[in-house]
Amino acid sequence: MSEQQARPRIVQKFGGSSVADAESIKRVARRIAEARRSGSDVVVVISAMGDTTDDLMDLALQVSPQPRPRELDMLLTTGERQSAALLAMALNDLGLEALSYTGSQAGVITTATHGNARIIDITPGRIEKSLDKGAVVIVAGFQGVSQTTKDVTTLGRGASDTTAVALAAALGAPVCEIYSDVDGVFTADPRVVPGARQIPQISYDEMLELASCGAKVLHLRCVEYARREDVTVHVRSSFSTKPGTVVTGLADHQKGNAMEEAIISGLAHDRSEAKITVVGVPDKVGEAARLFEVIAGAEINIDMIVQNVSEADTGDTDITFTVPMSDGKKAVDALNAAQPEIGFADLRYDDQIGKVSVVGVGMRTHPGVAAKFFCALAEAGVNIQMISTSEIRISVVVSADDVDTALRSAHTAFGLDAQEEAVVYAGTGR
Ligand code: ASP
Ligand code: MG
Repeated sequence: MSEQQARPRIVQKFGGSSVADAESIKRVARRIAEARRSGSDVVVVISAMGDTTDDLMDLALQVSPQPRPRELDMLLTTGERQSAALLAMALNDLGLEALSYTGSQAGVITTATHGNARIIDITPGRIEKSLDKGAVVIVAGFQGVSQTTKDVTTLGRGASDTTAVALAAALGAPVCEIYSDVDGVFTADPRVVPGARQIPQISYDEMLELASCGAKVLHLRCVEYARREDVTVHVRSSFSTKPGTVVTGLADHQKGNAMEEAIISGLAHDRSEAKITVVGVPDKVGEAARLFEVIAGAEINIDMIVQNVSEADTGDTDITFTVPMSDGKKAVDALNAAQPEIGFADLRYDDQIGKVSVVGVGMRTHPGVAAKFFCALAEAGVNIQMISTSEIRISVVVSADDVDTALRSAHTAFGLDAQEEAVVYAGTGR
């Protein structure tokens, strides 16, 4: 190993709101320069400036109502290419060698699914060479190149986090720093719960549950990747120097060295789902199988499912489930088309719903968490429509109008409220 390779390595990712304009790009560049000058090899993954990705998407839809996914990826990846090049310029002006790369140039090899490709390999030869020369490497996030078609792909909205963790794993960097517009992971979205508290340390498992239940602070696949590859993720604000949140294998309270054991680590909410109720399904073998085969055939993911016992006199039952709101119409159309074959009585569709989840490894060993959660909702006058649980999570579906109240009342009931209001530094939350 050469002496240069012995430098510690760090991957830093900056989100769109941290590089929203020229001034912020220069500010982020100063922060990166500090890390480089303290002696580390620095690889930076960058998101598109501000709302650029949304703006490009709007533009595409103005030109064509259903743009081809390949061309959409060509368009959307330009957002990250802009910010990467601009950041390299800003670093050059600070006297540092810096090189920007597209995902493809950086060796991010993906599947061929446009708009939602998965990373299958990283071949970081060019990054390694640039680091050896002492340069800071800037990689355009959320993109790669398909191994089979050689076309440019994107990894899904918010996936620059995943690019960063994947690069950290491939480059052997022990820590991936994710810089955003809040001070770390909070006990609830501080935009909705002003008393949300910043969490110093959280386990991969809890972070996975929070991210899959709607917490937007980290991309879900980034947490999956980090857990699999054992990369510590350090979530921090680019607007402050506060310590942030460390996402790692075992959280402190699991090791038993916290003063007081937190039963609930945090809450998440999600307004992106719709609820479908299939009324009057004959209660006999194979009905649920047929129904969900129809949904699967339409390539729609299901989240919660509830089936009741059948009515004594009719022998019919109702099945309710949730799907992404964007797939709602497709699901209803597919079911209606299959009605003669399945034989249900009626279909109800409701997208005025939201899901509120409480997450914590402590609930494995502490009884009464569900009771406390539901009591808090009852006292706040919130009606529960559906319930689902995992070993470390309880989720409820409530009316969309009740989501904020449900979150705040549960947050208070579990003793999570902080003394001071949480700071949100930037971003439109778009
Ligand atoms: N710019 C992309 C998005 O807005 C990716 C990212 O920011 O992580 O979804
Ligand atoms: Mg993001």
